Amino acid sequence: SDETKIHWDKAPCRFCGTGCSVLVGTQQGRVIATQADPEAEVNRGLNCIKGYFLSKIMYGADRLTTPLLRMKDGQYHKDGDFQPISWDQAFDIMAEKWKAALKAKGPTSVGMFGSGQWTVMEGYAASKMMKAGFRSNNIDPNARHCMASAVVGFMRAFNMDEPMGCYDDFEHADAFVLWGSNMAEMHPILWTRITDRRLSYPHVKVNVLSTYYHRSFELADNGMIFHPQSDLAIANFIANYIIENDAVNWDFVNKHTHFKRADTDIGYGLRDDDPLQKAAANPNSGAMHEMTFEEYKASVAEYTLEKAVELSGVEKDKLLELAKYYADPKVKVMSLWTMGMNQHTRGVWMNNLVYNIHLLTGKISQPGNSPFSLTGQPSACGTAREVGTFAHRLPADLVVMNPKHRAIAEKIWKLPEGTIPPKPGFHAVLQDRMLHDGVLNAYWVMCNNNMQAGPNINQERLPGYRNPENFIVCSDPYPTATAQSADLVLPTAMWVEKEGAYGNAERRTQAWYQQVAAPGEAKSDLWQIMEFSKRFKIEEVWDDALLAKMPEYKGKTMYDVLFRNGQVDQFPLAQAQALNDDAKAQGFYVQKGLFEEYASFGRGHGHDLAPYDAYHQARGLRWPVVDGKETRWRYAEGSDPYVPEGKGFYFYGQPDGKANIIFAPYEQPPEVPDDEYDLWLCTGRVLEHWHTGTMTRRVPELYKAVPDAVCYIHPDDARKRNLRRGDEVLMASRRGEVRCRVETRGRNRPPVGLVFVPFFDARVLINKLVLDATDPLSKQTDYKKCPVKITKA
Ligand code: SF4
Repeated sequence: SDETKIHWDKAPCRFCGTGCSVLVGTQQGRVIATQADPEAEVNRGLNCIKGYFLSKIMYGADRLTTPLLRMKDGQYHKDGDFQPISWDQAFDIMAEKWKAALKAKGPTSVGMFGSGQWTVMEGYAASKMMKAGFRSNNIDPNARHCMASAVVGFMRAFNMDEPMGCYDDFEHADAFVLWGSNMAEMHPILWTRITDRRLSYPHVKVNVLSTYYHRSFELADNGMIFHPQSDLAIANFIANYIIENDAVNWDFVNKHTHFKRADTDIGYGLRDDDPLQKAAANPNSGAMHEMTFEEYKASVAEYTLEKAVELSGVEKDKLLELAKYYADPKVKVMSLWTMGMNQHTRGVWMNNLVYNIHLLTGKISQPGNSPFSLTGQPSACGTAREVGTFAHRLPADLVVMNPKHRAIAEKIWKLPEGTIPPKPGFHAVLQDRMLHDGVLNAYWVMCNNNMQAGPNINQERLPGYRNPENFIVCSDPYPTATAQSADLVLPTAMWVEKEGAYGNAERRTQAWYQQVAAPGEAKSDLWQIMEFSKRFKIEEVWDDALLAKMPEYKGKTMYDVLFRNGQVDQFPLAQAQALNDDAKAQGFYVQKGLFEEYASFGRGHGHDLAPYDAYHQARGLRWPVVDGKETRWRYAEGSDPYVPEGKGFYFYGQPDGKANIIFAPYEQPPEVPDDEYDLWLCTGRVLEHWHTGTMTRRVPELYKAVPDAVCYIHPDDARKRNLRRGDEVLMASRRGEVRCRVETRGRNRPPVGLVFVPFFDARVLINKLVLDATDPLSKQTDYKKCPVKITKA
């Protein structure tokens, strides 16, 4: 019967940036099963363990189903207890707080922290509401902590974001190089493709670089443990080796590249008064200076094999083997990286140093020759990067600092010239500092758990949330650490409880339909943004001068101006599926309208998206999609429709079509171990849990598989501290202290002098200990190295 029948429909996985497609089985309004999608090109009928248990992420016993406000005596009170309220009451108090902040201090006093887990439409609507409605660029995604350095690396080298290659490269490469990435646990389905290639073709070699041993070493032909931060020296050594051994692809270099030098007089992205901040003449300088090949050659010449060995601690033979794969013109090399390279005070430089190697050898944009920056979140590319939810960005690689770019956005959005503010807003870490200092007062956190994931929680974030001058709203399906620290908690619909689209790491956009209703009063982030925007008359958020340019908007709401503009609302409700609560609430096909308006930014400019409906038919399409055809290798003739015939390669993001080879040196990190804090701490993830574990820790099978975060430590370091496996320890940095148990065996095996602790466990808030130093160019935090000490509890 219809009641017992299982209905199957497709959706991308809710978790990592791999972007596997799953089939979702629903029965009587509930997701009861998921299975890997056999038709999916990405995962070919496989899922990792997180994907297999997707059906359970929505049904945790503590799912939030009603708005909750901190109250005392029937009134909002900062120190009150959470009490259930209606959505109307929730938006009343929010609007009151936002209006008060805007009136007292203007648009820079309101802010939003979003996510690479927002759907494309949610991120787009949030960004539009903030930048054009509230006229505040204080919106940033948690992707800032994830791959902001990759974005800046791409922009500096190619002036276009995102990888030129695609996952097809896995089946063509002869050598894989993992730069600080543990793909076996973080991108397990892509790892199956590397494993398949390695085991099927004996000539294929796998190189793994990391600061500790992990599961990816099990497949490594050449495993290398390097001292934290010395990847900069290793990459420069490889470039030097290529030049010294006459392995430069001169034809490619002459036709397609320039040589540049990065401005090195930059800081560490700390507060100015932080004793660890580096005195720098140009603390945020992204300047690059022209240089000749001879000057570049002289700069990398310093990075001899001996120096690279000395700085990195990697054995000579291993570094030589690695360099030879890159230098040999017959070997197709795929370089892969994620947080190990991006969460780095010099992450942008490091991204560029790897591009340098590929550009010097011409090993780029061809099947198997691919520098590939992976992402951590399901839509870090689609929502954070492509939509432009960063504090400095607009859709399709446009930026708020550029008047022409602002004008393009204002035209598409049908807004008066001068609506979008020209100054970048507060980035993620700066938002915390501004909350702490009472500069940012009305703040909305959506679709992330920053109180557990962010760095230096005790000193910056928690005081900011509890600052009586501030009002903090958190939208989440579960009572996370962030929700518990907020003033107002909004219950959120998740994954297939709404219709949406995600963009994965290989430029693949995937869409899905709503398949079940959300529980109780839970509503999608999109609904929340739309309804909140109805609470503001445009004259309450725009000044008179701006309004005078379009007086027809007077008396309208922010919702009318931004979302009922004849463009977003052009597709009738009848075009939407019967089960689409967001469309029903707005009375039109809101997801399609937002997607199409957003897509108009990129069409004809190298970021072409297909018509929205096409994504419901296909298992995703890789942009640029021109004439219905997706692009596998960008910048390469025959594959990329933007490359004119006869060019071979054409880096069309750059005005002259040439990519930049950018020299940057090795530098020390801001904080290094000393006699007291004598160990390096690296934080990260495990296979079974996703980020802060808010979803996976509610799946019994995943929780039981890995219930606690432990401190992986070398047996000699444990012995030296009189510790045995399983002992409880106090781990402290200069910023805080946590308790956890030590593990001397298992999947992660650090070398002497380093410990690794995952951050999924809310009972071990390990990121409290992390220094909030950021790459000054990307503003991304370094979670991979800070000194700690360990004592028996
Ligand atoms: Fe695929 Fe990542 Fe989901 Fe695992 S978590 S099924 S690798 S998308």
